[in-house]
Amino acid sequence: MINKSIELFERAQQSIPGGVNSPVRAFKSVGGTPIFMKSAKGAYLFDADGNKYIDYINSWGPMILGHAFEPVVEAIQKKAVESTSFGAPTELEIEMAELVKNMVPNVDLIRMVSSGTEACMSAIRLARGYTGRNKIIKFEGCYHGHADSFLVKAGSGVATFNIQTVPGVTSGVSQDTFAAPYNDLDAVKQIVADNKNEIAAIIIEPVAGNMGCILPESGFLNGLRNLCNEEGIVFIFDEVMTGFRLARGGAQERLKIDADLVTYGKVIGAGMPVGAFGGKLEIMKHIAPLGNVYQAGTLSGNPLAMIAGYTLLSHLKNIPSIYDELEQKGEYLKNQLQAVLGKKRIPFVINQLGSMISVHFSDKPVKDFASAAAANNTLFNKFFHAMLNEGIYLPPSAFETWFLSNALTYEDLDYTVKTTDKVLDTLV
Ligand SMILES: *Cc1c(COP(=O)(O)O)cnc(C)c1O
Repeated sequence: MINKSIELFERAQQSIPGGVNSPVRAFKSVGGTPIFMKSAKGAYLFDADGNKYIDYINSWGPMILGHAFEPVVEAIQKKAVESTSFGAPTELEIEMAELVKNMVPNVDLIRMVSSGTEACMSAIRLARGYTGRNKIIKFEGCYHGHADSFLVKAGSGVATFNIQTVPGVTSGVSQDTFAAPYNDLDAVKQIVADNKNEIAAIIIEPVAGNMGCILPESGFLNGLRNLCNEEGIVFIFDEVMTGFRLARGGAQERLKIDADLVTYGKVIGAGMPVGAFGGKLEIMKHIAPLGNVYQAGTLSGNPLAMIAGYTLLSHLKNIPSIYDELEQKGEYLKNQLQAVLGKKRIPFVINQLGSMISVHFSDKPVKDFASAAAANNTLFNKFFHAMLNEGIYLPPSAFETWFLSNALTYEDLDYTVKTTDKVLDTLV
């Protein structure tokens, strides 16, 4: 019974475009009524009708230790009485920056912003200001937020809604953005050769999560790293999803590759609106007020956002077993799903690294946007609804990774696998 959600969705559409404040929430690609949430605790969501769901979205990443994590909630409550914003510097911002530097050793300077979009947009501006070049290379199916320069073959919601060109983005901006297929180093080399001394930056999700979960093939990121070194291109890791999730030091640590600039979001704010970009001093010193590349934010470094992020990151830093546990849960889920799916007559591919995992109903390896789009996503949509009916909340699109939180128990994982087994029989 989702009567209350149906009622709320009707009402929401009278005052909010499409009834939602971010498009994928509307369930448009999977169909049906979006579920309106009321509260959440640990690994479980509770909707407006009182239904309970096992959560595989984690607010799209931040809730790595589960919802309403007590130390974070308490820290926010304590901080709020000291004022919710100053617009002047605070000691807490230094502590936050020091903590990030400690967890990510190759970050010399870090600037806080309020979203992943802002972080990526600012990193690109900085790379352009630093190199004096205009063009950037991104990858098909990678999402870096909704800033104009990124809305070219942008994965995630843009892919979910099958939007090819985004009205409102000028052709001038689009022309400065090249999109190469993920895992295709030669394609990138070709673009760089054709645009000698014109590419400011290559930006990539080091493990892609906005076309389902897609892993970098061996040698791909290293090849990009070398290319950037040779050509004076700023190599940007968009770690908005992978940062503080794949390891304390994010994908850089996990995959043993250093980027020049890194962007963060999601986990870094523990569910509060936070993003950040940081990296080498040589580049970061060009940001205002040190340098002339302008970037600012009234609520950047907001005390409630900072204390939430600081508290969560402190736990992740101080309890290293968290990442081992997440890894084991990710592998367990992958292996168990593989066993169940292997017995059906449905082609499938499971990509997983640490606590990021996704199932594509495909008979070919899924290694880039084209192969993700070629999968049987109609079946995924049915699968999504069948799982939702059984109390399992997967991302409402095949073009999104699932996120595990460490609040998930093995019982939750077993229930998810058992339910997958059961519902797939009804779908094929
Ligand atoms: C979510 C996401 C963004 C955008 O972050 P917002 O906080 O939604 O603006 C950017 N890059 C990646 C890889 C993301 O997953």
